[in-house]
Amino acid sequence: MVLPKYCSYRSQRTNCIYPPNYVLSVQDNNDDEYMIGAVCDLHKDAMKFRIETLQQTSAIPQGKIRFDPIVILGTDCIKRMDQEYEDIRLDGSTL
Ligand SMILES: [Zn+2]
Repeated sequence: MVLPKYCSYRSQRTNCIYPPNYVLSVQDNNDDEYMIGAVCDLHKDAMKFRIETLQQTSAIPQGKIRFDPIVILGTDCIKRMDQEYEDIRLDGSTL
C-alpha cells in the first residue's frame, strides 16, 4: 500500500499540506475495506463528515468509517526515505 505524502483533504480554498496521521477507509458489511485516502489530525472530523455525506449519496460504499493511525516518523527520517526511494528508482531506470 502506498501512502499519500499529504493529507487528502481538499476544499475550495485549501489543499492540505500536512503529512497524514490516519489512513481513512470504509469497512462495508461484507468486511471488505475500501481505502479512501489519508488524513491529518486537523482534518479528521471534516473528512469523516465528508465521507458520511458521500455515503448518503452512495458515492462511496456504506459502512463503518475507519481511521487507522499511521506510525509517525521524524521529518528527517521521511526525507531520508524519500531520498532512498529516488535512488532506487534512478538505479532501476538505468538497467
Ligand atoms: Zn489535513
